[in-house]
Amino acid sequence: MEGKVKVLGSDYSIVAGDQTSLRGRYGFCDFNSKEIVYADHMEDSTVREVVLHEIIHACDLATGVESNELTEEQTQRLSAVLFSVIRDNDSIFKWICNRGEK
Ligand SMILES: [Zn+2]
Repeated sequence: MEGKVKVLGSDYSIVAGDQTSLRGRYGFCDFNSKEIVYADHMEDSTVREVVLHEIIHACDLATGVESNELTEEQTQRLSAVLFSVIRDNDSIFKWICNRGEK
C-alpha cells in the first residue's frame, strides 16, 4: 500500500520500508520526513493495523503539548481496538465523514 494520510493538515506518505530503516520494527512514524513506514513482509491485515498504529503516533504528536504523550502500550491498545471498531462499523464512519446515506 502506497498512499497518504492527512493528520491535522500534515500529509504523511505511507511507504514500505526495508529492514535497514526498520531495524527490526514492524513500522515507524517519521515526524520530520512526514513518512509512515511499514515492513512489507507482513500479512495484509497486519500492515493495516501497523499503519493505523503509526497514524495514532502522528495524531499524538499533532495534538500533544509534549511529543509522544501516549506511551507505546497506550498506542498499542488504542490501535488494536480502533482497528476492530473501524473495520466492524463501516456505516457509522461513513456517517461521521458525512459520506453515503443519512
Ligand atoms: Zn508504536
